[in-house]
Amino acid sequence: MTLQQEYDYVVVGGGTAGLVLANRLTEDPHVEVAVLEAGSDRLKDPRITTPGLTSALYDNPEFDWIFRSTPQVSQISLEKSKYIEG
Ligand SMILES: Cc1cc2nc3c(=O)[nH]c(=O)nc-3n(C[C@H](O)[C@H](O)[C@H](O)COP(=O)(O)OP(=O)(O)OC[C@H]3O[C@@H](n4cnc5c(N)ncnc54)[C@H](O)[C@@H]3O)c2cc1C
Repeated sequence: MTLQQEYDYVVVGGGTAGLVLANRLTEDPHVEVAVLEAGSDRLKDPRITTPGLTSALYDNPEFDWIFRSTPQVSQISLEKSKYIEG
């Protein structure tokens, strides 16, 4: 991949919404789009491509921002994706 000096659009976050938006924008071949993603490219990782391995993603800092609600009687985890494809 070659980085360019300028883009028409910069999409921050390569998750579900960001990649749909980038895909739609690049339907126009004259439009240059960059996608910035904080996490890694996991498109070929078997933990992503194998449906039964979803549980390997939870609380794993490679895939999950590991957000938590504020401390309370019943604290819940708020899984939030951290990789290309969200
Ligand atoms: C383990 C797991 C399993 C799930 N399974 C399902 C399912 O089976 N069915 C279903 O419908 N939904 C599922 N979800 C929920 C679904 O993934 C989300 O609802 C959806 O992806 C949200 O889309 P989004 O574009 O809003 O955010 P995301 O897809 O989370 O994308 C946001 C992206 O932005 C990136 N980002 C954040 N901050 C920055 C920054 N400052 N700079 C650059 N990049 C940044 C993040 O790393 C992330 O990749 C699951 C979620 C998780 C975590």
